[in-house]
Amino acid sequence: MSQAETPPPAVDPIPILQRLIRFRSVNPPGDERECAEYVAELLAGAGIESELLGPDPERPNLVARIPGRGEAPPLLLHAHSDVVPTGGQQWTHPPFDGLLIDGEVWGRGAIDMKGGLAMMLAALLTLHQRGEAPAGDVVLAVVPDEENGSRAGAGWLTAERPDLFEGIPYAIGEDGGAALTFRPDRRFHPVGVAEKRACWLRLTLRGRGGHASRQGWPDLAVHKLTDLLTALRDQRLPTHITPALDRMLAELSGAVDQELAAELTALRKGERSTVPYELLDVADAVYLDSLLRHTVNATVIRTSDKINMIPDEITVDLDGRILPGDFTVEDYIGELREVVGPEVEIELLLEGSRTPKAEPELSPFYERLVEILREADPEGVPLPVITPASTDARLFANLGMDCYGWLPMLLPAGSRYQDRMHDADERVPADAVRFGADCLYRLLGAHP
Ligand SMILES: [Zn+2]
Repeated sequence: MSQAETPPPAVDPIPILQRLIRFRSVNPPGDERECAEYVAELLAGAGIESELLGPDPERPNLVARIPGRGEAPPLLLHAHSDVVPTGGQQWTHPPFDGLLIDGEVWGRGAIDMKGGLAMMLAALLTLHQRGEAPAGDVVLAVVPDEENGSRAGAGWLTAERPDLFEGIPYAIGEDGGAALTFRPDRRFHPVGVAEKRACWLRLTLRGRGGHASRQGWPDLAVHKLTDLLTALRDQRLPTHITPALDRMLAELSGAVDQELAAELTALRKGERSTVPYELLDVADAVYLDSLLRHTVNATVIRTSDKINMIPDEITVDLDGRILPGDFTVEDYIGELREVVGPEVEIELLLEGSRTPKAEPELSPFYERLVEILREADPEGVPLPVITPASTDARLFANLGMDCYGWLPMLLPAGSRYQDRMHDADERVPADAVRFGADCLYRLLGAHP
């Protein structure tokens, strides 16, 4: 009897991640070129050709196409090579040394998202080393500038070179960093299925001005400001149970204690409209609250700079976020009016683009992602999530792809590693990244 040949071991993503972290691709300004060139070299070592392209030679996009077995449609893997700055932060270990200490890789980008890029690269190199081809063609896009508007990166690529992505139905990218600890002894695996979009507004409040030495008139703009801020504090916009959220609440209800499960079921059925903050860690509560409704936050307030003049005009800028789905800016402003009243002047400052498929159906592709997670971590709970902020997925979705945020990590249950994105001491357990590389390898080998 001949002994079965053992396949070559999987390529370890950790040395790749350490190298990636050592490129200071801090955005602004970006400087992603050396990082992109390193990825190109790494791929070339496995016989994979790639192209560097973009509007700025110092900030190239990298695109590679790896031929598949023709058993599945092509699949896009997209990752950003830039990271946010570290200025003003106190780090325990230097942020750009890529140190491996006690099983954790330290550095800016360890989670967001050089860890994810390392997973993708390791999965592709493992396929190559084992002499295997992916189920369908794989297009890898490593883009700059995600952290600062995406103009040099996915924005340029999707506008100028849509031909590179023709016929790709599905895309995998970052998950938007949902750290979920709904139960401290349970590990949750977020699968990003949709993103909220921005709707930035300026509200103007007017009233009678005058000399501040007198008792103010009854209709002061400052009083209207007080009313506005009080209303924003005390009232929430209505809940909308989107299909992804319904599924998320259903899966969560099955994985948490009975008391919380009952409340989540009530939310799902529309029998309650507020998140049970008293039963949740506040970070989880705030996160869940943001998936249930459009949100609004007053962020910039401008008024006179004269201490002895009563201002006759005050403006309040609102950072609003609209849920995925068919909701328009008009729908959003309509809901907001119920809170701020009919008289306030509202001006639209910025509207995030609405993607043609606002919420991918929980399709066979989604089910495959869940199946891989269940095989790889039988105790974990996969959850479809809506990303409260936006990533490059919105740009690729504009080309008609269903985009999923899927960078699986085997993190200790109850840990909050993802909370360190953009913050000091960003780090990731090495085994969490190896787990993700293995999940991606399984996906590339057999996807719908
Ligand atoms: Zn990111």
